[in-house]
Amino acid sequence: MLCLTCHRVRPALDRTDYTAERALLIVSRGLCACGTPAPAERARSAEDRKPAGAPK
Ligand SMILES: [Zn+2]
Repeated sequence: MLCLTCHRVRPALDRTDYTAERALLIVSRGLCACGTPAPAERARSAEDRKPAGAPK
């Protein structure tokens, strides 16, 4: 259940993985983000980093 790289909780792959135990682990350890980066999420955060109005 835990990521071997960051020792956080890996995202649940199945509905049956969403257990109370997992939720507690996520709260105490945090959620792993190094295993499955979401492309949409990345694009959105990259867009957020851009300044709204670029100075000339
Ligand atoms: Zn990880």
